[in-house]
Amino acid sequence: MQITFLGTSSGVPTRSRNVSSIALRLPQRAEIWLFDCGEGTQHQFLRSDLKISQISRIFVTHLHGDHIFGLMGLLASCGLAGNPKRIDIYGPSGLSEYLQGCVRYSQTHFSYPVKVHTIQPGIIFEDEEYQVVCGPLKHRVPAFGYRMIEKDKPGRFDVETAQKLGIPPGPIYAQLKQGQTVTLADGRIIRGAELCGEAQVGRKFVYCTDTVFCDGAVELAQNADVLVHEATFAHQDSEMAFQRLHSTSTMAAQVALTAEVKQLIMTHFSPRYAPGNSIVLEDLLTEARAIFPQTDMAYDFFTYTIPRRSSP
Ligand SMILES: [Zn+2]
Repeated sequence: MQITFLGTSSGVPTRSRNVSSIALRLPQRAEIWLFDCGEGTQHQFLRSDLKISQISRIFVTHLHGDHIFGLMGLLASCGLAGNPKRIDIYGPSGLSEYLQGCVRYSQTHFSYPVKVHTIQPGIIFEDEEYQVVCGPLKHRVPAFGYRMIEKDKPGRFDVETAQKLGIPPGPIYAQLKQGQTVTLADGRIIRGAELCGEAQVGRKFVYCTDTVFCDGAVELAQNADVLVHEATFAHQDSEMAFQRLHSTSTMAAQVALTAEVKQLIMTHFSPRYAPGNSIVLEDLLTEARAIFPQTDMAYDFFTYTIPRRSSP
């Protein structure tokens, strides 16, 4: 499970940073889940080793242009890039109308099904392996953060040993697989946990943008393996952050600290902190690390493999 930043600038692109988008790669499924899709996201795909044809889900945080202006171009190209089976798009109310308007006036036809889901806080997607939850953030328009949870996998059940012990196949195996203790007909007590390998702890990826510091972000980020949080402004510019409902580096770090995450990666930086300014991006990193040392700063094409922890 790997994330690649395709855009890390807020509002407008710069020469080195495009606007928001993150690709989450799920290699076992050969799928990519995209979080936000700023203008030029499909160009960023072409510059990376990610394949547009693998996109199966797109999660949109809010309807500001720097998070959605890349959607139509990307969706139109997806058909040509090798037909995806279907793309599911999740986002706030209004996203469906926006896309319908674009399709209608540009007379675009998608050669594959596109389904837009209007989200409400709570579970928005679940299957046997993953669950995605969204929660409200605090921005100038309705905005949602996402928590992507990989479910824990029980350890491998040792069928060979079970057979050697003469345990009769049947429903007992299912109980043992779940780690339960069962008493056999002959009186022997078998502990399922002893026949199961080590369980694999699922990973949690959380994405919070755009938002000023809020409890919603802390709640979503609880105990995450990696939290990607916006840090549009430096601490010194916190007045601007409160006015525009964006975060400072110190707010992002505070969320990470309070939620006890493993790793914070900051993104969505204001272009104002270009080299030569009195405050530069490295200052934002220093500020955040003073509060939460396990902080890094995203740049375009930065790829982070989310490590699997050994215990919950
Ligand atoms: Zn915004």
